[in-house]
Amino acid sequence: MKKLLTTICALVPLIGTVKAQEFTPTQIQQVKQVTELALDSDLSWQLLESLTSEVGPRLPGSENDKKAVEWAKQQFEQLGFDKVWLEPATFPNWRRYRESGTIITPSKQPLHLTALGNSIGTPKEGLTAPVVMFETLDELIAAPKGSLENKIAFVNYRMNRHIDGNGYGPAVRARNTGAIEAAKKGAIAYMMRSVSTSHHRFAHTGNSRYKDGVSKIPNTAIANPDADQIERLLNAGHAVSVNINLQTEDLGEGTSYNVIAEITGSDAPQQYVLIGGHLDSWDLGTGALDDGAGVALTMAAATHIKQIARPKRSIRVVLFAAEELGLWGAKAYFKQHADKLDNIVAAAESDFGADVVYGFESSVSANSLPVVRAIAEQLAPLDIKYVRANNAHGGPDLIPLRQATNAPIFALHQDGTDYFDYHHTADDTLDKVDPDKLKQNTAAYAVFAMMAANAKTTLTGKNP
Ligand SMILES: [Zn+2]
Repeated sequence: MKKLLTTICALVPLIGTVKAQEFTPTQIQQVKQVTELALDSDLSWQLLESLTSEVGPRLPGSENDKKAVEWAKQQFEQLGFDKVWLEPATFPNWRRYRESGTIITPSKQPLHLTALGNSIGTPKEGLTAPVVMFETLDELIAAPKGSLENKIAFVNYRMNRHIDGNGYGPAVRARNTGAIEAAKKGAIAYMMRSVSTSHHRFAHTGNSRYKDGVSKIPNTAIANPDADQIERLLNAGHAVSVNINLQTEDLGEGTSYNVIAEITGSDAPQQYVLIGGHLDSWDLGTGALDDGAGVALTMAAATHIKQIARPKRSIRVVLFAAEELGLWGAKAYFKQHADKLDNIVAAAESDFGADVVYGFESSVSANSLPVVRAIAEQLAPLDIKYVRANNAHGGPDLIPLRQATNAPIFALHQDGTDYFDYHHTADDTLDKVDPDKLKQNTAAYAVFAMMAANAKTTLTGKNP
């Protein structure tokens, strides 16, 4: 027993030393320098301003999407990245041309709506039909077959507000498959309360699907105040009919590009930290929060690291294509690199706006946790708490990576309380981004990526 105690006592200082050696004092000094640089620099703001003003909205496959790819490539080159390249991705190319809505009965008034992505159009004059309301998608699913013949199905589910955006998942079900369920019951169009927490009169778009063997019907979301209006009219006992007019087009398969840039590591260049966002956006706003911010802040974070010191492992910024239409760029990237996914020592995508980062979370193996704790310590001065759950999901573009392998995934949780006020609307514009918060985000990504690239221990994913 005494011998065992002596051994343990001898081990304790040793464990302390091992932990300390994950990073040299010089490396810790560099972390402090990169934090200061990022908090001081307005590079991420300049990039975001340029992307959202000089390119604007970036619907996959559009002329602007091409301009965005060219913009990103040029910016990376000018910022002095060691390698810059493009990789193609294909997706279903879709366009929105015009859209409008009107409440016809009981009293004629405007209806603020938007086509959901992938929606077919209506006849030129639109289509007019009575509205049948359901509180949830499940209520629509439970409706008797044929009960919605010549009707417009309306799902009135309201998304709840939360810092981590946990209201989005339950609400988005009605967007993904609502039109399929409505068509199964005979409806001639589908209309939903926007997946939104706002009071403004903008409708929120987003991707939606059809199913083989089920007829395709026009698929639309209406603004929250308009959903309230229809709800009031129906609850007062009125028969409500509306006119929906969507002019859209399915253009078949489109091609865009993931734009990739790397700061090459000095010691293990084949290993890399993957950070990034998605370059595309919806067509209604200018994609400032979703996801111009993620693009700009990860480009800037990698640049700041390079300005301080070359990292041991590479840092790769991946700007994914066609995320909004179904993660097409991400699927292409992780397929293209399928045999080399082990080279990814850490991955994090910023795709949740640009409010402050308040939490840092990993999804890594047990022996990677000392490195994670050391990173968390350096993030603490930025007011970022360490979330110990070790269950990070990363951003949406990391879903194909998580499905393919147990890679080390990280989340820098942004405060999403207000994110769904603007998400996928005409109101997602640069003025919604706070320059100081964007700097804090940039600093957080710079610290995380620098330390993940420099740690003595190579980070590995959770065991399956
Ligand atoms: Zn996004």
